[in-house]
Amino acid sequence: MEPPKEIKKLREEVVNRIAAGEVVQRPANALKELIENSIDAKANNIQITVKNGGLKLLQIQDNGTGIRKEDFPILCERFTTSKLKEFEDLSSISTYGFRGEALASISHIAHLTITSKTKKDVCAHQARFVDGVMQGATKAVAGNQGTIITVEDLFYNMNVRRNALRSVADEYARISDVVSKYAVHNAGIGFALKKSGGNNDIRTPPKASHIDNIRVIYGNTIARELTEFSWEDPTFKFKSHGFITNVNYSTKKFVFLLFINHRLVECTNLKKCIDQVYTTYLPKNMHPFVYLSLELDPITVDVNVHPTKHEVHFLNEEQIIESVCGGLEKKLLGSNNSRVFYTQA
Ligand code: ADP
Ligand code: MG
Repeated sequence: MEPPKEIKKLREEVVNRIAAGEVVQRPANALKELIENSIDAKANNIQITVKNGGLKLLQIQDNGTGIRKEDFPILCERFTTSKLKEFEDLSSISTYGFRGEALASISHIAHLTITSKTKKDVCAHQARFVDGVMQGATKAVAGNQGTIITVEDLFYNMNVRRNALRSVADEYARISDVVSKYAVHNAGIGFALKKSGGNNDIRTPPKASHIDNIRVIYGNTIARELTEFSWEDPTFKFKSHGFITNVNYSTKKFVFLLFINHRLVECTNLKKCIDQVYTTYLPKNMHPFVYLSLELDPITVDVNVHPTKHEVHFLNEEQIIESVCGGLEKKLLGSNNSRVFYTQA
């Protein structure tokens, strides 16, 4: 029998890369974190540029508060954040990310360049980051107020991952899905998405309504059949608001945009229940379009558990789902009485 092999400690750089690969599984995950950072920075204009499904280039430019020059050196270290100071803050946190991990993670698995200008700055500052460390000093460059995060060659040091994500079109579709959903939810923020050198594939104006954004992104066939939905439940302390298609509209694939406490998430149980409510009204195997924003007591939900953990669970989940679906049922009953038939003009 062979003697046991020596146990060795992995190099720190390798450990960090593995951890970062967990946080960022594909370009769309990274983009979601970056969009949330821009929203946290109070931007009302967010432009995204992509090359090769985000694997070659993923760039996001915002007109938010910017980052102070003094903060650049520690910007990409793990657990550096401007959003959380004490553990107690966790329960009352209202900003999106709070773990100070997104930028750090990206710097371990891509070439990261950050350019930023605050209102006070006379020019923008720029630096490159590798494995959490700023390379040299910041450089003064021309720029507008706000921040540009440039992520190049994602997974350049993770061959297996890079090879697993071979479909550029699929990665772009996922990116487009994330941008579409955040654009609908964040009426008041203008979003643009384009492929490098191309025209905008998505563009929403900064001052538009949810319905306008849905029309621009998902089309008028959906937008003209939307009803506003609002539902509150004091017992389980939650509020919900959104736009749902009425009984005149149906589609083969259920389009469901779900935000819980303003973070894009998935909740299979809620999705199933909503789909079930519609079965009474829609033709067999057909589904609705539903955009729903749920605001739960932050103490009962940890939507930030893990950046890739899209599927959320929360306290009193069953009762809350039942309550929301009860509200939807009422709304649909009402809309069923005003069924409209369109004729071709
Ligand atoms: P977190 O968002 O959890 O704090 P991140 O790694 O995503 O951690 O970001 C670290 C910090 O960098 C943020 O707390 C914020 O201060 C700053 N930052 C990141 N992106 C932006 C941005 N687009 N505009 C302004 N500041 C930003
Ligand atoms: Mg963040």
